[in-house]
Amino acid sequence: MEVVILGAGYAGLRALKALQKADDLHITLIDKNDYHYEATDLHEVAAGTQTKESISYLIEDVVESHKTTFIKGEVTKIDAEKQTVLLADGKEINYNYLIVALGFESESFGIAGVEEFALPMVNVETAAAVHQHILAMMQKYQETKDENYLKIVVCGAGFTGIELLGALVEGRKEYAQIAGVKPEDIQIYCVEAVDHLLPMFSEKLAAYGIDHLKSWGVQLLTGKPIKEIKADTVVYQDDAETKALKELTAKTIIWTTGVSGSHVIGASGFEQRRGRVTVTDHLTAPDHENIYVIGDVSAVMDATSKRPYPTTAQISLKMGHYAAKHLLATLKGQTIAPFTFKSLGSVASIGNSHAFGVVGAAEVKGYPASFIKKAILDRSLLETGGIKEMLAKGRFDLYH
Ligand SMILES: Cc1cc2nc3c(=O)[nH]c(=O)nc-3n(C[C@H](O)[C@H](O)[C@H](O)COP(=O)(O)OP(=O)(O)OC[C@H]3O[C@@H](n4cnc5c(N)ncnc54)[C@H](O)[C@@H]3O)c2cc1C
Repeated sequence: MEVVILGAGYAGLRALKALQKADDLHITLIDKNDYHYEATDLHEVAAGTQTKESISYLIEDVVESHKTTFIKGEVTKIDAEKQTVLLADGKEINYNYLIVALGFESESFGIAGVEEFALPMVNVETAAAVHQHILAMMQKYQETKDENYLKIVVCGAGFTGIELLGALVEGRKEYAQIAGVKPEDIQIYCVEAVDHLLPMFSEKLAAYGIDHLKSWGVQLLTGKPIKEIKADTVVYQDDAETKALKELTAKTIIWTTGVSGSHVIGASGFEQRRGRVTVTDHLTAPDHENIYVIGDVSAVMDATSKRPYPTTAQISLKMGHYAAKHLLATLKGQTIAPFTFKSLGSVASIGNSHAFGVVGAAEVKGYPASFIKKAILDRSLLETGGIKEMLAKGRFDLYH
């Protein structure tokens, strides 16, 4: 029995961990990188407050070679009829069961110039490139004294944008040193379409995070939909009534307005929206009982809100575990109860020692919240990499 897992992110590795406990099946794991990275820490790599090595580990560390073959390769298409997966190098891999966990990509929402002139932050390479870009711009300031080199604009104030802003504030010391200015001289902006930020939190709690960012000098332009990105320029609608546009110039423009699921989903002909398949209550693609679609490429309906659950590492891990359990039960001719999810809450970090969010029914903020956030991230690491990776990453030294 051949099980193929596409993607070694949270969902894929969690499924692998559970499947490797079973006998009588062979697993092939495919990822375009030979390392797993913790996407929940990408903003820190982008800001330079963590290195890319500190948020990643080798996939081979979690592969049991007598049960699993790891292939480093880029998936381009799934052929559900032929039961094959196509790779960019032309290889074709056959499967009996497939677990698709290809994760998220940057979403431009069709706004002109995003791909050409804004920096994405959706994997280790793009996050590290953001940091390198910022440092290069600081160096340019030294040479030119053009203030645009000191300006950083984050497009989008969702969960990711807010976490990135906090990390950039923390990174200012490093940038300022290179530019030869004071940390306060680094100008950090955020342009966001809506006025009501962080709707997942109570108004008071969201205000806690936002007020902190403002007190650290972050300039938040809310209710200003971005209309276009041009070279070194964000064009936004300044006035909803007159539709008047305004331009904000900066040499660093980072795009964090939202993500979609992998483009491979659309390329493979699945019924999908923004790279996500609305799955059955056993997490399989409609019409394909042998294909599980999990993590950020999946849309799971929340029966209470009648909307899909937000895509998070938390639900991805749960889906990975469920898909493996369901697959193993199916092989035994059994079935298990449908997938259910109850969020444990979410905590947003703003810098290394501040955070705010909800855990269970309780609101948490400040230093204790940052401790909880780090404990949650460590739990994810434990669920994918195990105790070895946790120790290797020195995660007990929570405050780096
Ligand atoms: C800055 C930031 C902060 C976040 N904070 C939180 C948080 O605090 N809590 C939370 O729960 N969630 C958080 N999230 C969301 C969370 O990171 C995602 O929901 C989660 O990473 C999705 O997991 P996944 O396994 O579906 O995909 P991913 O983690 O995206 O993994 C996908 C894997 O597939 C591989 N891959 C992709 N395309 C191909 C291809 N074509 N061929 C081969 N391999 C491929 C990639 O290399 C990767 O290893 C955050 C996200 C960001 C960006």
